[in-house]
Amino acid sequence: MRPLKKALFIDRDGVIVEERQVDSLERVVFIPHVISALRKIREKTDYYFVMVSNQDGVNTPSFPLDDFEICQNKILEVLRGEDVVFDDINIDYSLPEDNCPGRKPGTAMLDSYFNGEWDLSSCFVIGDRLTDMQLARNLGCKGIWLHEKEASCPENVALETNSWLEIASFLTLEDIKGHRTAHVERVTGETSVSLDLDLDGSGKGEIVTGIGFFDHMLQQIVRHSRFDLSARLSGDTWVDEHHSIEDMAICLGRAVSQALGDKRGINRYGFDLLCMDDVHAEVSVDFSGRPELVFCVSFTRDYIGSVSTQMFSHFFKSFCDAAGCNIYASVSSGNAHHQAEALFKAFARAVRMAVKRIPGLDEVVSTKGVLE
Ligand SMILES: [Mg+2]
Repeated sequence: MRPLKKALFIDRDGVIVEERQVDSLERVVFIPHVISALRKIREKTDYYFVMVSNQDGVNTPSFPLDDFEICQNKILEVLRGEDVVFDDINIDYSLPEDNCPGRKPGTAMLDSYFNGEWDLSSCFVIGDRLTDMQLARNLGCKGIWLHEKEASCPENVALETNSWLEIASFLTLEDIKGHRTAHVERVTGETSVSLDLDLDGSGKGEIVTGIGFFDHMLQQIVRHSRFDLSARLSGDTWVDEHHSIEDMAICLGRAVSQALGDKRGINRYGFDLLCMDDVHAEVSVDFSGRPELVFCVSFTRDYIGSVSTQMFSHFFKSFCDAAGCNIYASVSSGNAHHQAEALFKAFARAVRMAVKRIPGLDEVVSTKGVLE
């Protein structure tokens, strides 16, 4: 089953541009920080952007359609130039006395968002009026109320603010909670490992283990999880690759566990399926606190480079034990290099989904109240 989608239903006037009848280009004045905030939200989250606006009396003599469209197109052009793109735009042209069901806080323009594909309880309406917050309630969403004056706040308002900077922080949680990082050092008679991990990174990796193909697989984790990982390992590869791969998995698992802390506010579950040329891989992950590996992969070669294919199940078992997670991994038959690479890519993308913070959630996703 595909994950449910999330949207931001964003008002236009009073939220993106100043509140007034915007019928000439001189009247297009952007709200401070709105463009950089929307860009940050777009970069850091998976929300769909949906514009929802009442434009009273467009296509009447007092507000010709052309005048509206010239301004609307300019607003969208400026936003697009900063990589802020709306996935859907819904404009109601009626007057209040028309009582149109599509006019906010009515939801008729947004019927398609009730089709079961949307996690409405995780969506937000961002608006400057009480009618926007009523729209949020009617959709089953939470509200983000952008306004200056003090007023009694409806219960479904998750954030009341006069600043787009605060909205961006709230929705990305980056500035509120900071990056989730860990440093792990581990020295044994067989290996020495030093590792720095940032779960909220941008996919930068510096990896040296002395085992070429294993480095290539760790780079797949970095690239597809978008974690930043600096990992140095020196090990007794003159014996074989076993201790090095095992110990790197232990350290990586420990680092993920440390960086997640008490796991408040994360998805907990993640999954991915992907194809790579002749191979299909699927991996699901649960950061339950309990280690378990189900590994349904029959490699078609015994070795890839200098790495025994036996070591891949051992890598994931060692990671599970150290991170306290369940992993189910299944890869079809095919080219062995593709099998391994598809496996590590799918694992990375599943972990990325599992550790992702859910905006506004500050609880552990478990009826037990803990994930350990
Ligand atoms: Mg408004």
